[in-house]
Amino acid sequence: MAGMEALRLVIFGPPGSGKGTQAKLVSEFYGIPHLSTGDILREEVERDSDLGRMAEGYMSRGLLVPDDVVIGIVRQRLMREDCRPGFILDGFPRTLRQAEELDRILGELGWRLDVVINLVVDEEEVVRRITLRRVCSVCGAIYHLEFNPPKRPGVCDRCGGKLYQREDDTEEVVRKRLEVYRTQTEPILRYYREKGLVRDVDGNPSIEEVFEQVKAVLEEVRSRGDG
Ligand code: AMP
Repeated sequence: MAGMEALRLVIFGPPGSGKGTQAKLVSEFYGIPHLSTGDILREEVERDSDLGRMAEGYMSRGLLVPDDVVIGIVRQRLMREDCRPGFILDGFPRTLRQAEELDRILGELGWRLDVVINLVVDEEEVVRRITLRRVCSVCGAIYHLEFNPPKRPGVCDRCGGKLYQREDDTEEVVRKRLEVYRTQTEPILRYYREKGLVRDVDGNPSIEEVFEQVKAVLEEVRSRGDG
């Protein structure tokens, strides 16, 4: 039935490109779960679990958590019932090995990706966004002190939770994360381009304008799927 097709996508881009913000909007609009490996890992750190303690050292330095760990997390998450209508992956895959393993996992489930949305943002813009980013400690909502400020300073509009600055959002760690992105993550765009899956979206305009572009791409993908 038209409109009932599953929607399986990856949102791709450097740190600070607006992946998380756009992923949340897509998740709400299309009613599919938002799978953010960064959010999952931060929850584990918060809970002080074994996994969290292991991951924290990498995260605080802007390095990638080992592939096997992250792949295991995503595999488990994708097996859950709520992913059947589709999902949006945010922050995964981040290495070629993760991309290949994702294909394998999806293959086992009889699925494949519909599209990879690549948010293209200028590097100076990325640093500006990240250093003024604030995140809700309760619901994970994302704010920007200048472009998307909360109504009350330090308090989440959605749930009243306390806002905080991510430990890895300092300028020094951001620079490291951008380097990791360029060397380890950006190369997988080629892998996806060869499969014809990548759609570039200009991530520089406002949240609303970018979301309009993202929706336009997804509507096109869905109409293609309806055949
Ligand atoms: P993010 O919230 O996506 O910016 O992720 C924050 C941090 O979590 C990253 O800098 C990594 O240390 C870790 N992380 C998140 N996703 C992955 C992934 N797919 N592979 C390895 N490490 C990850």
